Amino acid sequence: MYAFKRHSSAIAVAAALMLSAGFPEASAQSVLSKAERASESMEPALRHPDQDAQARAKLEALRARMGKQPNIVWLVVDDMGYGDPGAFGGGAAIGAATPNMDRLAREGLKLTSAYSQPTCTPTRSAILTGRLPVRTGLTRPILAGDTITRNPWADEISLPRLLGEAGYRTVLSGKWHVGAAQGMRPHDIGFDEFYGFYEAEKEISQAVDKRRYPDLVLNPERLAMLRKTGASDALVHGFKGGQTTDVVKIDSTAAMAEGDRMTKEFSVAKIKELAAGNQPFFLEHAFMKVHADNFASKAFEGKSASKYPYKDDVVEVDAYIGEITKALEDAGVLDNTFIFITSDNGPQLDSWPDAGYTPFRGAKASAWEGGVRVPGIAYWRGMIAPGRESDDLFDLMDLFNTSVRLAGLEKKIPSDRYIDGIDQTSFLLGDKGRSNREKVYIWAERDLMAMRMYEYKIHVKVVQEHAQWLNIDMTTISDVGLAPWLFNLYIDPKEQYPVGHRMNAFLASMAAEMKGHAATFKKYPPKNIGLGQ
Ligand code: CA
Repeated sequence: MYAFKRHSSAIAVAAALMLSAGFPEASAQSVLSKAERASESMEPALRHPDQDAQARAKLEALRARMGKQPNIVWLVVDDMGYGDPGAFGGGAAIGAATPNMDRLAREGLKLTSAYSQPTCTPTRSAILTGRLPVRTGLTRPILAGDTITRNPWADEISLPRLLGEAGYRTVLSGKWHVGAAQGMRPHDIGFDEFYGFYEAEKEISQAVDKRRYPDLVLNPERLAMLRKTGASDALVHGFKGGQTTDVVKIDSTAAMAEGDRMTKEFSVAKIKELAAGNQPFFLEHAFMKVHADNFASKAFEGKSASKYPYKDDVVEVDAYIGEITKALEDAGVLDNTFIFITSDNGPQLDSWPDAGYTPFRGAKASAWEGGVRVPGIAYWRGMIAPGRESDDLFDLMDLFNTSVRLAGLEKKIPSDRYIDGIDQTSFLLGDKGRSNREKVYIWAERDLMAMRMYEYKIHVKVVQEHAQWLNIDMTTISDVGLAPWLFNLYIDPKEQYPVGHRMNAFLASMAAEMKGHAATFKKYPPKNIGLGQ
């Protein structure tokens, strides 16, 4: 209870600080904003009636042709950098070609301003609830040894639950990382079936990789202590309301290296089965790779030009994205399937060279662009015009609202809690669609750090790295000084030269927007589940 009070008031204090020290007087009406709030519990959105009408017509025509709602497939890579796929400037140029992601980007919509949360668990829970981690309590990765004081899922309404109630079959294949305890597993929170791993790659490999963790692996007493924390060491298969079994025990780095091959084989077979049925389906395929520690699988060792395990794993993940897409085509459902490809956060530079590439400042866990700006590819043959590219804002939480809308369930979005996601259906399906999102709020655990609005980004707190590459292990969060740090990302994408003092009117307008955001926590207080800072 004490902790809950403390962190609620911390947010209130953050809001108050934002509006006093450093900030110019916030005007009641933000001059920059064009977004409208449809209801108190919904994030304000930009209105585009023409593209919305086009999207609705396209969906109705498809529904009439297919006779059922569309399938939804998310392909979520772990810790892949913004600059890793060739379509985003990486690929062969940095030693790991990504022909499949590049083709899907070319034949679909490439999103250059897509935003995740700074780390795994927050993003993974936010995209399934449409809610910021600070609202659900899932503010940081759950790690071996953590004690969760309250099941955050007990009162969250997840996307698979909504879809399942409407007749969808729902499957999570691959990495979960949002709780391994009973009640928190994928097949407890709405998915019909789960085939994969509860934890991040490193959480499992630290018990078997004697080269990286000799002090654990070669010390039986310490290894036993690690086991006592409940760390999982298996690929698990579970069914909603049914059995959960360990399929493969991960007892070596070689076994870990094959994890994504196994979940890919499952997804490919499952797509065949689901496509043959009468129900639409939702498949979230979440890769374990390319999260550290990367070990090249047998079939992909040395397959990247660079030969480094991280890069071999990028090549492997890209190949599987191609195979999963081909499985949808072979099963005859590609035209009725919305596909979204992304990464759950920026590259984990702390583990370099076992890490991805970002052209931006900072990396995983940071509120700088390097932590939260991720590649986004929306692909839907016949529905999303090929060759599109947009720098309009897309928050990965928008996948919740958009998927709900594609399933025709927008009236089922709960109104008793705040929903941070925005329906982006018309942005994606309109041939010249513009984003319905005007702002992205960037939180680091329980600190509201920054806001992106159009090409501007304002920081009210900043992450300070005390060593250039260490964005997790050697950082502090500090308040800004005389004024918030305002960057124009179009002329300064690396966030190096604040220009706030030249743009006071914009600062005031953006301050008003942040005040509005902070105010949503008064009526809808955040949840605390025991994940301390
Ligand atoms: Ca991650």
